[in-house]
Amino acid sequence: MTKVIEAVAKLKLEGEKDEKDEKEEEAKKKLTLEELAQNLSKGVYKKIVVLTGAGISVNAGIPDFRTPGTGLYSQLEKYKLPFPEAVFTLDFFQDTPEPFFKLASEMFAKKFVPTKSHYFIRMLAEKGLLVRNFTQNIDNLEAESGVDPEKLIQAHGTFTTSHCTGCHEAVSPKEMMECMQAAKPMMCPKCGKPCKPDIVFFGENLPKRYFEHENELVDSCDLLVIMGSSLVVTPFCNLAVSIGKDVPRLIINRELPEMLESHKRAGDVFMPGDCDESVAKLVRLVGWEKEFAGMMEQREKYAKKHKLALPEVESKLRAPVTKAGAVAKPKSAPKAVPAAAPKKPKSKAKSKPKAKDKK
Ligand SMILES: [Zn+2]
Repeated sequence: MTKVIEAVAKLKLEGEKDEKDEKEEEAKKKLTLEELAQNLSKGVYKKIVVLTGAGISVNAGIPDFRTPGTGLYSQLEKYKLPFPEAVFTLDFFQDTPEPFFKLASEMFAKKFVPTKSHYFIRMLAEKGLLVRNFTQNIDNLEAESGVDPEKLIQAHGTFTTSHCTGCHEAVSPKEMMECMQAAKPMMCPKCGKPCKPDIVFFGENLPKRYFEHENELVDSCDLLVIMGSSLVVTPFCNLAVSIGKDVPRLIINRELPEMLESHKRAGDVFMPGDCDESVAKLVRLVGWEKEFAGMMEQREKYAKKHKLALPEVESKLRAPVTKAGAVAKPKSAPKAVPAAAPKKPKSKAKSKPKAKDKK
C-alpha cells in the first residue's frame, strides 16, 4: 500500500516537473525587451520594416482617430455627421464636402513638428536598417522628418496631389491647400464636382505603390516594428500578421492591439504607453543615445526653420526626472493624452479599400 502511495506521489511529482519544464521552455523562447535591444545593438537585425499609425503623431499635436474623448472621431460631433467616418467617405463627400474642408482647415492645412518617434524611423534609415516604412498616416510627418520617400509607403495616400471626384482631372495642390486653409470646398472648374486631396477615403483603393511593396514583409524582414497603430483598418492591419512566424515583432503602442492579443507569438515584445517615451527608453537600452541626440538636433532645426514651437506635450518628456525615476508631472495634463486609460475601440476592422480590386 505504501509503495502504491509512493509511486503515485512520484508520478505526480514527475507530472508537475514536466509542466514546470514546459513553462520554463516557453519562457526561454519568449523574447524580452532587453534581448531585443541587445540584438539591435549587436546588429542581428538588418532588415527592419516599420508600420506606423496615428499614435506616433499625437505628440505633434495631431489627435489620433479612435481614442474616445480626444480622438478625431469623437471631436466631429459639431459637424453633425451621420457617423464619424462619413467625413472620409466618398459618397458622403461628393454630396457634402463642407465637413471635410472644415476639418482640413483645423487639422491638415497646418505645419507640425515630427515627433521623436518619426526621427527614430529616420535614424533606422540612416543606419541602413530600414527596408520600408508603411504608414497609415496622412500627415506626411515621416517624410518631413527626413525619411527617404523611397523607403516610405503612404498606404492611405497623401495631400501632395489632388483630383476631382467627378471627372478625375488632376487639380492644383496649391489651390487645394488654399481651399483647405479657408475651409471652403474646392469645386472642379470642368464638371462642378468636389475635388479632394489624394488621401484614401473609405470606398477607395489604396495606392498602387502599397500593393507593389506589401509582400516585402514576407520576403525580406527580420524585425517588424509596429508603432502607434491599433491595427483595426484592413488591409493595412494584415501586414502585422503576414510576416513569418519567427520574425520578432516590437509593438510600441498605448495598448496592445486587440488583433495581436489573439495572435500572440513568442517573438512579440510589447512596450505600452506613450510612443515617444518608449522610443527614448529603447534608444537608451540599445546604446544609440548619441545618434539619437543628433536626430533631436535635426528636429530642433526643423522647428526653427518653420518657426514652430516644439509641442506643449513635450514639456512632460523634458521634465526633470525625480529620484525614483518618475517623471515630474506637468502643470496641466496635455490634451492629447487622456488621464484615464482609453476604452477599447467599439468599431471592428474597417475596410478602407475594396479588397476585391486588389491585384
Ligand atoms: Zn471634374
